[in-house]
Order: sequence, then C-alpha cells, then structure tokens
Amino acid sequence: NITLEGISKSYGDLQAVDDVDLSIRDGELLCLLGPSGCGKSTTMRMISGLETPTSGEVYIGGENVTDQAAYDRDTSMVFQNWALFPYKTVLENVAFGLKMRGDGTDERQQKARDMLERVHMDGYEEHSPTDLSGGQKQRVALARSLAVDPDVLLLDEPLSNLDKRLREEMQIELKDIHKEFDKTFVYVTHNQNEAFTLADRIGIMNDGRLVQVGEPTEVYRNPTNRFVEEFLGDTN
Ligand code: ATP
Ligand code: MG
Repeated sequence: NITLEGISKSYGDLQAVDDVDLSIRDGELLCLLGPSGCGKSTTMRMISGLETPTSGEVYIGGENVTDQAAYDRDTSMVFQNWALFPYKTVLENVAFGLKMRGDGTDERQQKARDMLERVHMDGYEEHSPTDLSGGQKQRVALARSLAVDPDVLLLDEPLSNLDKRLREEMQIELKDIHKEFDKTFVYVTHNQNEAFTLADRIGIMNDGRLVQVGEPTEVYRNPTNRFVEEFLGDTN
C-alpha cells in the first residue's frame, strides 16, 4: 500500500499540492480526478520520486521512501506522451527498462516479447515507435512499464491523446490488465467519465487539496462539498 502523510509541494509562492493525506490499498485502481492545474501530476510525481515534497512523508509498502530516489522505488510510470525512444525498435523500447535492472539479454528479449503479446502488440517487435498509431504507442509504453514488474503502476493521463473511440477501447483493456496483473494502479485524469469507468476509488482534487475520496457511486451520490457536486454535475 501507499500512504501519503500530509504531503505538500510549493514552487515559490505557488502551493501546487496542499497537505494531502491519502492511503492507497494494495491492488486497487485509484483515480486522481480534478481540473487542470489542481495538483494531480505533482501528487503522482511525489509518489514516483520524480518530485520531493516540501513537507510530509511518502510510504510505499510500509517503508518511508520520502528521501528515496525514483530509481529505488518499486513504481513505474506511464506518460501521456508515451516517452518512447524513436530510434529504438518496439522490442528494444520494452526491453530497455529490464536492462537497467541488470537482466541478461535473452531473458530481456523473452520478457519483452511476452509483454508485447499481453498488450496485443506481437508482430510489431521490429517496428519503429514512430510508425505506430497513438493507441499502439500507448500499448508499447504500457508493456515497457509492466515488463519491470513494479508493485505500483503510475499512469498520468495515458489516454488523453487518443480519440474518443480508441480511448474507450483502451479503458476496457486497461481495466482487464489491472485485473490480470494484481498491481496497484494510480491513474491521473481530468476526465470524469474515464475515472468512473476505471476506478475502484476516486480521489477528487481541487486547488492542491484532496477534497473527497471514495468509491465512484459513493462520491457521485454523496458529494461532501460544493466543489465536488459542481464538478461532477458538469458533464464534459
Ligand atoms: P493538468 O490536468 O493540466 O495536467 P495537474 O492537476 O496535473 O494539471 P500539476 O501539473 O500538478 O496539475 O500542477 C499543479 C500546479 O503546480 C499548477 O499551477 C502548475 O502550474 C504548477 N507546477 C507544476 N509543476 C511545476 C514546476 N515544476 N514549477 C513551477 N510550477 C509548477
Ligand atoms: Mg497533469
């Protein structure tokens, strides 16, 4: 599990994240939902270790990782813009993370091939990522993150560059992958339909604060404040 204890992050005078307490259960898919600029990505970056909190503590699996480098944490990140290497093949992209972990060449190749098959991208091993569609790139990015077998997968708006139809298709695949892999997913989105489709629990943020956490039906039926009520009422 992941526990955030009063984490805050400020950039100069700007309070990007303001005293967030949150406990994320093992194996759940938790969506951080909220409008642009509310602090979702910054919160996620503090879980991954790409950002250090100005104050507060981050625990993963009971261990205080607040001062631990991103590399040492058992998390893996999937980005909106895929962040694939254009001059490596699809297979090399997926195998790359395994190399960092010191696996042998054959083992790396096999794991990468297996993972590409899981995301329905077998047959594309020798392609360049630049030749792939948005959905295919996101599948490869997902395979690369899953290949290193992290306990926690952190996904920051992974589907927001896709058109509506593809986004909905990928949401279903992501839900299946989450069920199949038994990992904790933290999923950032500003799209409430997406959050309600995917999440076991939703954490709603506004202006750096976590304003409500609960199961989708609970949050929908019993918004605990005006912001949540209006945000969810606003069907975008
Ligand atoms: P979006 O939905 O647009 O991605 P977000 O909820 O992910 O938004 P964050 O990226 O966490 O929001 O940003 C929260 C606030 O912190 C914003 O006002 C942003 O401009 C600011 N911010 C984020 N990163 C930095 C940084 N490295 N330096 C200065 N300000 C930052
Ligand atoms: Mg963001």
